[in-house]
Amino acid sequence: MSCRACGQPATEPLVDLGPAPALVGALWDDADGARGSVRGQLDLHVCRRCGHVQNDAFDATLIDYDVDYDNSLHHSPTFQRFADDLAHRLVDERGIRDSHVVEVGSGKGDFLAAMARLGDNTGTGYDPTVDPDLRVDGVTLVPDYFRPELHLEPYDLLVCRHVLEHLDDPATMLRALRDEASGEDPLFYLEVPSAEFNFGPEGMWDSIYPHVSYFSAQSLEALVSRCGLRVEASGTAFGGQFLWVEARPGRLDDTVPDGVAEHLALLAAFGERWRSTTRHWRDRIGADDSDELVLWGAGAKGVTFLNAVDDGARLTVVDLNPNKWGRYLPGTGHRVQDPASLGERAVALVLITNPVYRDEISHHLEQIGVHADVVGL
Ligand SMILES: [Zn+2]
Repeated sequence: MSCRACGQPATEPLVDLGPAPALVGALWDDADGARGSVRGQLDLHVCRRCGHVQNDAFDATLIDYDVDYDNSLHHSPTFQRFADDLAHRLVDERGIRDSHVVEVGSGKGDFLAAMARLGDNTGTGYDPTVDPDLRVDGVTLVPDYFRPELHLEPYDLLVCRHVLEHLDDPATMLRALRDEASGEDPLFYLEVPSAEFNFGPEGMWDSIYPHVSYFSAQSLEALVSRCGLRVEASGTAFGGQFLWVEARPGRLDDTVPDGVAEHLALLAAFGERWRSTTRHWRDRIGADDSDELVLWGAGAKGVTFLNAVDDGARLTVVDLNPNKWGRYLPGTGHRVQDPASLGERAVALVLITNPVYRDEISHHLEQIGVHADVVGL
C-alpha cells in the first residue's frame, strides 16, 4: 500500500497490534454483545521516506461516524481549555476578525462558537456526527461530511482538527480543500495527534482502530506540501500530544523535511517495546494468581491494553465513572465495576493506564482499605 502522507509507493511492516474494536468508546449492556462487537486488525506499517505510520489493514466500512459516534476527547475540560487558547491565538495573533471561518470536522461547533465570540467571526462547520437540530449562535452546522462538490463560500480561515488521521485518503480531501480555497489567501489550521507522543516513551496504548494514520512532524508537512499548501508555521501543543501546521495555498512540493531517521529509530524501539510488554502482561495474567490483578480505568487506553493482553477477560476492571458500572467493554467483554467493590477483595496489583492519576488512585485505594501496589502500564 502507498504512503498516505508522502505518496511513496510502498510501506514496510512495523508492528501488528492485533484485532482491536472498531468503536473503542462503545460500552455494551451484555457480555456477548461486547465480545461480538466488530474488531479490525491494527497492522501498522511505516513509510521509510517520511516516517509516516498507517494501518494497512484499515477497512473504512467497519466505522460509521454517525450521531452516536463519541469523540471522548471533546468531553475533557483540559481539551476545551486548549481549544479556547487556540481560538484566542488565531484571533489575536493571526488577525482572524470579522472574517468567515470554515471547519471540517466541527463536532458540536464549540470551536467555531469560540471564534465567533472572540473575533466577531461567522462560521460554517461540517460534521456527520452533529445533531441536525443543534443551533449555535453565529455558526451554521452542516450535518454531513465535507464533500468537494459542496463548493465552500469564501473564507479567511479553514480549520481541520483531529480529522486527517481518520481518513483513508487524506490527500484527496486536502487537495480538494486547497483547490476549492476561496477568499484572499486563506489560512489553513490543521491539527492531528502526534506520532512522536503515541510511539514515544509516554505512549503505548494510544493506537486505536479509527486512527488510520499516525503523523510525525515530517509526514504531516510532507502531506500538506504535496497537496499544494505552503507551511508557514508548525509545532506541538497539548503537552506534546498534538501536532499542528498553519499553511496557505501555494505550489505543489514533493519534498520531505529533515528528521525522518530519528523518528524511524523511535518507531523501531516502539515495535520492540510493544512485543516485550504485551508478552510480559499476557504471561502475568495467565498465571494462577491473576485474580489479584486489577485494571483501573475503562477508557480507550484500557480497552486497547485489554484487547492486546487479556482476551479471556480474567482481569478485574474498575472505573470511577458510575455510567460505566455494570457495562461491558468492546472486544474482550470485561465488566466494569465500582472501585468500592475492591474493598472485600485481596488485591495485589492495580494497573493504571495514565500515570497522571497515580496519587489520586492510591489515595482512593487507601480510603477503601485496599493495600496494593499501583503500577503504570
Ligand atoms: Zn511517506
